[in-house]
Amino acid sequence: MRSLAEYERSLCPLCGLPRSICQDPKAELTLHAETSVCWATAHMQQAMKRWTDANGRDNPAANALTAHLTC
Ligand SMILES: [Zn+2]
Repeated sequence: MRSLAEYERSLCPLCGLPRSICQDPKAELTLHAETSVCWATAHMQQAMKRWTDANGRDNPAANALTAHLTC
């Protein structure tokens, strides 16, 4: 049985698929993608931008911002 670390190393850090799939030269022609918007991420990034606009990008807390959805 493979260890979790070994399994994680087999995954592409960019797309999360197994490297054997996304980095196979044939994938250039067999994989396809479409774009979509994650609105949860978009709204959380907008909230964090509002915070840095109001409090300053140089504020020490700016690098520790988190956001959560309030739905
Ligand atoms: Zn990949």
